[in-house]
Amino acid sequence: MSEIKNKYVIGDALSFLKESRKLAPKRKAKSRTDDFSEIYQIKKESDLVIQADRCLDCGNPYCEWKCPIHNYIPNWLELVANQQFDKAAALMHQTNPLPEICGRVCPQDRLCEQACTLNTGLGAVTIGEIEKNIADFALNNDWRPDLSRVKNTGKKVAIVGAGPAGIACAELLVRNGVRAIVFDKYPEIGGLLTFGIPEFKLEKSILVKRRIFLEDLGVKFVLNTEIGKDKHIQDLQNEFDGVFLGMGTYRAVDGNLPGRENKGVIAALDYLIGNVNQQKNYQMVDSHYYDLKNKNVIVLGGGDTAMDCVRSAVRQKAKSVTCVYRKTEVEMPGSRTEVKNAKEEGVKFIFNLQPIAIKSSSNNKLESIDFERTNFDVLKHKDEVVNLQAESVILAFGFRANPAKWFEQSGISTDTSGLVSTLPNTGKTTATNIYAGGDMVSGADLVVTAIAQGRGAAKQILNDLEVLNDLF
Ligand code: SF4
Repeated sequence: MSEIKNKYVIGDALSFLKESRKLAPKRKAKSRTDDFSEIYQIKKESDLVIQADRCLDCGNPYCEWKCPIHNYIPNWLELVANQQFDKAAALMHQTNPLPEICGRVCPQDRLCEQACTLNTGLGAVTIGEIEKNIADFALNNDWRPDLSRVKNTGKKVAIVGAGPAGIACAELLVRNGVRAIVFDKYPEIGGLLTFGIPEFKLEKSILVKRRIFLEDLGVKFVLNTEIGKDKHIQDLQNEFDGVFLGMGTYRAVDGNLPGRENKGVIAALDYLIGNVNQQKNYQMVDSHYYDLKNKNVIVLGGGDTAMDCVRSAVRQKAKSVTCVYRKTEVEMPGSRTEVKNAKEEGVKFIFNLQPIAIKSSSNNKLESIDFERTNFDVLKHKDEVVNLQAESVILAFGFRANPAKWFEQSGISTDTSGLVSTLPNTGKTTATNIYAGGDMVSGADLVVTAIAQGRGAAKQILNDLEVLNDLF
């Protein structure tokens, strides 16, 4: 046992009783809504060590099973508790190419931390926060994994899309001696991590550090290059030993809501992308900036994207921001933490209202939204129409597939909703040597799920190229 501070002894079997779950302090809501910077303060090393030491090291680590990429959580918690941060970072990177991202954006309260044995009353180990801080520590100190045993296989794979699925596939391939060249139409890697998620959840400088890290490992990024426009898929098929598609889903669901085409109605992703582009000056020509200052804003939807929108609107100094969700609060699909953060920042929530029409004046000025109630307990109100006034409405109903025109011509089959069809657990599409994963296969889902699929496809590619080895 070693001492980290006067009163605390590492390795005490009862530390989970003596030390409570503690997250890093957040910046005060009043000051954090004046900018788009991240809201959590950096955790002190000694606090990370103490939180990691609370792990019970259960014989059957439920946290590990609940994590979609099966991170070796108890093992890296033990390394952190023993202040072996480099080794912890190395172990994290064996299963996750983006630990600093997952630590920030995974809904831990539905995944690893929900499954933590201590979550039954004593407070889960702060797994996500430890993952984020250790990965940040690694990136900030130019830590790199030891890949000296990797032998070049002479194979090369093209990856379309530099989002989580594409990055996960590329990283695992280079760790196994396969060259990975990643094409993306945007000017920076990350996909929606960079262009969709606002900075208060994920500062963009982190993606730049991660790109440099991946480039040092041997991943090559070809940005501002759209397949089907700047380069043909047939060229990739001819030049490479395999192609992985991780292109995401970018088409907004509009719910067929009458009035959705009216002025003042904005698709959530257009709003978020425009905002990031304006702040970071990426010069993306097809993005429009929506300024909601002094406006009464209603966001329709209840997932993490809706929370990103309401919290961005607060920072743009909207006059009022209201989130309206068609079901109850407990049925909201996103992270509870994000809802809590939004409430702290002054967002108003209304539940059990289903939008039925967006109303505008004769000169096309948005005026209000009509809703019907969905809590049928109060049957006497069943037919009542509720009208809420708004000057801007953001539709955050989710995303659906947007298959590229060249899919059909290349022999890539999609299902009736446009999602790419793959052989289960392989990522193999119906086209020879073309694999796919992430949201374009399973529909809009978590970052960590896309990572799992990108890694799964990489293993299949290694297997099919007969270069599978034990490096992973
Ligand atoms: Fe938890 Fe996500 Fe990290 Fe897995 S990747 S340990 S689910 S935060």
